[in-house]
Amino acid sequence: MRPSHSRPRRSGTTSRAVLISALALLSIAACSGDPPSQEGSAGSEGVWLTLESGWLLDVEAGERIPNPGIVVSPDGRIEALGAPANHVPDGAAVTAILLDDDQTVMPGLIDLHAHHNMNLTGEGRVEETRYNPLVFLANGVTTTFPAGEYEPELLLTLRDRLEAGEWDGPRLIPSGPYYGRTRPDWDPEMTAEEVREDVDYWVSRGVTHFKAKGAAPEHIEPLIQRVHEHGGTVTGHLDSGGRGSTNSADAIAMGIDRVEHILGGPVLDPEEGAYPVWNQVDTTDAAFREVVELFLDNDVYFNATITAPIYLTELEEGFDYWEDEPGFFTPYVQELVAQREARTRRDLMSELYQAMKRTTLAFYNAGGGHLITMGTDNPSQGEFLGGFSAHRELHAFTLAGIPTASALRFGTINGARALGMDDEIGSIAAGKWADMVVIRGDPLQDIRNTRNVETVILEGTLYDPDELLERARGQIGPTGPEEHDDWYIW
Ligand SMILES: [Zn+2]
Repeated sequence: MRPSHSRPRRSGTTSRAVLISALALLSIAACSGDPPSQEGSAGSEGVWLTLESGWLLDVEAGERIPNPGIVVSPDGRIEALGAPANHVPDGAAVTAILLDDDQTVMPGLIDLHAHHNMNLTGEGRVEETRYNPLVFLANGVTTTFPAGEYEPELLLTLRDRLEAGEWDGPRLIPSGPYYGRTRPDWDPEMTAEEVREDVDYWVSRGVTHFKAKGAAPEHIEPLIQRVHEHGGTVTGHLDSGGRGSTNSADAIAMGIDRVEHILGGPVLDPEEGAYPVWNQVDTTDAAFREVVELFLDNDVYFNATITAPIYLTELEEGFDYWEDEPGFFTPYVQELVAQREARTRRDLMSELYQAMKRTTLAFYNAGGGHLITMGTDNPSQGEFLGGFSAHRELHAFTLAGIPTASALRFGTINGARALGMDDEIGSIAAGKWADMVVIRGDPLQDIRNTRNVETVILEGTLYDPDELLERARGQIGPTGPEEHDDWYIW
């Protein structure tokens, strides 16, 4: 079973589809000579969308080319690259966007570790489904895979609302509940048959891609088998193999598709914690090279989440705010954050960040560039938000020494391939969903230009990022102690 490709066009978003006059010139459709529809904008019934001039980021080639013209049909798919006159039917209503000379249109970002949940009060993570999606979308993140959910039913409800066009946010590929001790009501005595039945249930609820965390080999194996029978993928936050966890080498032998955070493998010792060992890993060591070969030989994707540790330590180089992120939280949450005590695992996490940069670069240099994906893994604690973290993660790849063009692939087409959705999303090509971002500047020259999001396009519907952010500002989290228990319930 593949993700639904035939879901209804997002209806009801017409009134929220915004044209930004500063950059989007509504012009007359070149082919028809007809004036643009007065009441129509992209996303309306029967309205075509065209983007001309400026630049286009070809992520596959790693090049920025003069925009040849992008034609989006009313169903939200890219009809063709080329002159609109050759592709838009005569007389059709058109929303035409003319890009500036220093604007680039690139594929929407795909975050494969996009927590919608956050821990704002210190009482545990809850899924924030009302405002966080706006922040993801405003940042040009058009597809999110949460990689583990604490309240999977809430995420399925969010997905349904997004697909129906009732709420605005990125495409949500649900990951269902965790498989392993991270699931709040996980039963370690679960049999293989019970794991398979559990998978069947969540597949019946619309989950295709799954996440294991804190799972033992006897649970990961039936998980992978059953999910593969359903046509999905499994990713894992794995460990050394000690204390009921599974080593990545064992999970790869079982056929796991993707691995989160660290490559692990024979480098790790079941007796010791994963991070203290991984932090000291020597990338020229035979055990390290062995695990890299395992990934390469089996085409296992690696979701590097290089920046995940920085949210548990002091901020490192180049990650300062470019937007008032704390301002998206309620004044009460901002107060809680100000009163919070200093972080305790600071050194371990700072080292981990450095180790992740070194090992991800070594994996890349060994030929793993086609297998690295982008994941933010930032369950917010009230300071930073996942949508913005996508740009920090892209930046971190380049700080690690990886070429900018490759980092941009990690955040787009590689993520699409990892989900088996590369015929749907991940690049700007005919037949794919029109998931695109117009940014100011050249992202190849400086990857931080991806932060200059000026228009977001999801399935052909236009969004003004400033307007999306404005709706979220000051809204995230409880407004006082009395709301601790139910601020996230909608
Ligand atoms: Zn995570």
